Amino acid sequence: MMSGEAGAAVLETNDDKPKISDKTKTKFDVVIIGAGPSGYTAGIYCSRAGYDTLILSGILPGGQLVNTTEVENYPGFENSIMGPDLMIDMRKQSQKMGTTIIDDEVVDVDFRRKPFKVLTASEEYEGRAVIIATGANPRKMGLNGEETFAGKGVSYCATCDGPFFRNQEIVVVGGGDSAIEEATFLTKFATTVHIVHRRDKLRASKVMQERALNNEKIKFHWDSAVIDIKGDQKVQQAILKNLKTNEETTLEIGGLFVAIGHTPNTKIFENQIELDDQGYVVLKNSTHTNVEGIFAAGDVHDRTYRQAITAAAFGCMAAIDVDKYISESAEK
Ligand code: NAP
Repeated sequence: MMSGEAGAAVLETNDDKPKISDKTKTKFDVVIIGAGPSGYTAGIYCSRAGYDTLILSGILPGGQLVNTTEVENYPGFENSIMGPDLMIDMRKQSQKMGTTIIDDEVVDVDFRRKPFKVLTASEEYEGRAVIIATGANPRKMGLNGEETFAGKGVSYCATCDGPFFRNQEIVVVGGGDSAIEEATFLTKFATTVHIVHRRDKLRASKVMQERALNNEKIKFHWDSAVIDIKGDQKVQQAILKNLKTNEETTLEIGGLFVAIGHTPNTKIFENQIELDDQGYVVLKNSTHTNVEGIFAAGDVHDRTYRQAITAAAFGCMAAIDVDKYISESAEK
């Protein structure tokens, strides 16, 4: 069946106790938008609590972990797990609990009246509560090599991938708090961390700047951009260009971390819920947005931790908040 098609009942899983989910259904207790660790975890908790739960996963389910290789820091996997495998397991676990999952993209929402409406190109779904778990995407530099070497030396998360680069030289691109924090963290592993920044002043907070400027393992390349990434199977060289002199230099490196900001996936929620000046969902109390009955979880709100485990924990919190909200609404 085509993803997102509203058709006949579909067997959702090959597990011991498969659940049949009716994909013609459009009315749910809880609609979860997004299928990263927060969305799937929210699905597991909501379904297990007895709520009729729908996850609209988008066209490429699994979130940022689908573009990750080995995950060494998700508890419970002594020998690590591949990012895509972790997401497949979370999806199956959610389905086993009874969550209906439809791989379709949400194009619009109406949170002004209840039940809330969530629309895909072909269908209109209703939920008594909605959990927004659409995540955020790291900004990309837009170089060809960036795609070619993604997961082969190019990374967007130092906490996740830093330990893979022990005793190697590393480039970090960016001049904000993320870049400086990641560069400082990476000095635990790397022999040298080269920060490549397009200006001659950092955007990062003073205290973080000073820490990095005083770190002997960090070398700054001001007014510079990475214009090419080269390698055989993995990243081996970064070609830098000084934007003032046009001089080009080649750095022999093992890894390149892009830390030029994130973009939260919140375009469809503009004018529906409160977002901050960078588009992140503003939470009022735990996982509650400013609209009663609409909750958010994971990187769509969290710009600080951005880990699979914290996103999953946020999903759990949102599901518990939804349970309380629906139970209390029923009593009114
Ligand atoms: P950010 O503050 O937006 O900084 C992005 C950096 O990347 C800037 O230095 C920017 O250069 C550069 N950049 C943007 N696009 C680029 C491009 N196409 N090519 C090259 N460089 C580019 O993003 P962030 O560092 O991820 O931080 C996001 C928010 O989270 C901030 O509010 C930050 O304070 C917060 N944060 C806090 C902490 C902490 O307190 N521990 C840690 C991480 C993040 P320009 O400076 O020239 O614009």
